[in-house]
Amino acid sequence: MFFKNIIGHEFQKKALIRTVRESRISHAYLFFGPDGIGKRLISVEFAKILNCLRGESITEEVSKGERCDCHSCKKIEKGIHPDVFFVEYKGIKNIRVDQIREEVEERLFLTPFEGRFKVAIVDEAERMNPNAQNAFLKTLEEPPPDSVIILISSRPEALLPTIRSRCQLLEFRGLSEEIMLKEFRKRTDLSPDEAWVAVKLSGGSLGKALGLDKNVLSERKEIILKLSEINPKYASQVLGFVESMPTGSSSEDLEKLMFVFEIISAWLRDLVLIKIGFDEDHLSNRDLVSPIRKLAEKWSVDNILDKMKFLENAWYAVFRMNANKQIVLENLVLKIAE
Ligand SMILES: [Zn+2]
Repeated sequence: MFFKNIIGHEFQKKALIRTVRESRISHAYLFFGPDGIGKRLISVEFAKILNCLRGESITEEVSKGERCDCHSCKKIEKGIHPDVFFVEYKGIKNIRVDQIREEVEERLFLTPFEGRFKVAIVDEAERMNPNAQNAFLKTLEEPPPDSVIILISSRPEALLPTIRSRCQLLEFRGLSEEIMLKEFRKRTDLSPDEAWVAVKLSGGSLGKALGLDKNVLSERKEIILKLSEINPKYASQVLGFVESMPTGSSSEDLEKLMFVFEIISAWLRDLVLIKIGFDEDHLSNRDLVSPIRKLAEKWSVDNILDKMKFLENAWYAVFRMNANKQIVLENLVLKIAE
């Protein structure tokens, strides 16, 4: 069964199957929507459908409930099919013209080796610089026969309008919190409260939720409770908190610290939600309702919004301006505790 390993996105899956069944396959697609919600997986699955050796029976395949094990589907799954290739630019800021020529155009214009279609999947397509996008436009205007280009982007607005208009657009939205929670709990052994926080912090991206640092997640409650109780008059409390933070310069520490910022931000948001009358089901930290209510009585909405703004600036100072983490964190804790 195609798409068996992909949760949600029912409309998009059906639409893609329909274009194949009705022979209305487009030369170019733009899959867009938030990162980590399955666009890439769906593009691989679509490449399989396009080249499946049992392609005639797509309807049956879908209803049979088994994954196709034909030679072509297996090769695509393993990433070794000569006619299906990925263009990825992890870690590179800009995709240049020569890369597009070498990695996409030259390969697309070859006759398919063994498949029906040559499929180029371009992840993070918005990273093409304007020259590369213009070069790419030519391929989109006169696409080689038997070729399908799938552009994937979380920022489609960064693509030239002329590129967007040459593609069939397919929008992907984040998964619902309900589906996310169910799937997340199937795959982790975190407590229901921790799983809920992970879901709330991941904006519909199961990939992001699963990638969150489990150690930081399990320290969340302690981090929030400590922050709630710090008295700014006692320097030792402020320094103690900062010392317990991951302030090293390794990428692991940076990622952890970024996650701590997200936790603090979600907690401040919870405080605002309670202040303006939302019920507890809307909170990210559902297991901390009573300390949140207690603080909400003490702080005004303006005061909390002020702290949120401070947090945002602190984030920018640490992760964009490379400021001294200890100093920024000390000021942040003092601001939050005031
Ligand atoms: Zn197959």
